[in-house]
Amino acid sequence: MKAVQLTGWESPPEINDVPVPEPGPGEVLVQVGAAGACHSDLHLMHDFEADTLPWSPPFTLGHENAGWVHTLGEGVRGLEPGQPVAVVGAWGCGTCVRCLDGLETYCEQPDLAPVPGGGGGLGLDGGMAEYLLVPAARHLVPLPEGLDPVDAAPLTDAGLTPYHAIRRSNAKLGPDATAMVIGVGGLGHLGVQILKATTAARVIAVDARESARDLAKSCGADLVLAPGDDLAEQVREATEGHGADVVLDFVGSDDTLAASAASARQIGDITIVGIAGGTLPVSFFGVPYEASVQTTYWGNRRELVEVLDLAARNLLHAEKTIFTLDDASRAYDELAHGTVRGRAVVVPHDSFQP
Ligand code: NAD
Ligand code: ZN
Ligand code: ZN
Repeated sequence: MKAVQLTGWESPPEINDVPVPEPGPGEVLVQVGAAGACHSDLHLMHDFEADTLPWSPPFTLGHENAGWVHTLGEGVRGLEPGQPVAVVGAWGCGTCVRCLDGLETYCEQPDLAPVPGGGGGLGLDGGMAEYLLVPAARHLVPLPEGLDPVDAAPLTDAGLTPYHAIRRSNAKLGPDATAMVIGVGGLGHLGVQILKATTAARVIAVDARESARDLAKSCGADLVLAPGDDLAEQVREATEGHGADVVLDFVGSDDTLAASAASARQIGDITIVGIAGGTLPVSFFGVPYEASVQTTYWGNRRELVEVLDLAARNLLHAEKTIFTLDDASRAYDELAHGTVRGRAVVVPHDSFQP
């Protein structure tokens, strides 16, 4: 089968012919319906050097996947071939306290995991291929009625990551609160929708691209702004001088982090989700009084079930630009050049139907 692979650090993806994997005991082979192209893959291709991460190429890209159960390994129960499923992307040991809480992102026995601190598309072969080998049935969530794999795939990261971040700040997102979303790409456009669907907070969205600001509006943002020197001032003007109770930074560069701190309200949350590599100096007078600065990473299985349910109820919809496997490099180029609306999704053409 064809697979879009990263074969070395600081190199572009390649399309290679690889064998279709055979599921061993406890494993499941999924026929890929769709695999999203995440900006993190661009960081993998361009920003990381050997030894930054506990794993290394070669592996097939695609950590945002959904499809249909194809073949069950020995001993797997509760799934049927042909059943549509979303894939939980972080694959831990499954037995430590964090894994038992569903937080396989933070597995504390990484040596017992299929790959330390990673998953499919992050150290192990991912979903940008016709088939994806999933090491345990617990990583699969059956899709609710009315949701197909192409709609579901972006929700497993671009939906789940903002959902987890927003949930973490739930207590600060009351009806009188303002949330600020910086970066309205794959994650941000779903972040705006999740805020609208799960809170009564007002939403201010910020993006450098006009098309992304238009997308933010259509996703329900109450106010859209462009970045610039007066951004924090505009946020304060729109919030009776207070600032945003929760700032979700889906870029994470020096300038967006500075804007996050300048725009946040006292006792607010500044949540760094984007990994553009910026730094926010935190000091007593450097951030608003009692503001919390936090990072978040992906989300857990239970939250994915909730995200899929929101989508099945038409409260959440990923905007997609579809590419074939052969065109995956172009998907990443367009993502890098900022011409993708919503999420770039790779659909292996000959596996569109189960
Ligand atoms: P994307 O490219 O789809 O979206 C980024 C958006 O930010 C674009 O719309 C772009 O125009 C906008 N932008 C860029 N610089 C800006 C600036 N200075 N001011 C305002 N807007 C700006 O990317 P994505 O796939 O949504 O990922 C966003 C970030 O989140 C990436 O850094 C990615 O690696 C990271 N990420 C983190 C996690 C996590 O768990 N923490 C998970 C997935 C992705
Ligand atoms: Zn990602
Ligand atoms: Zn574990």
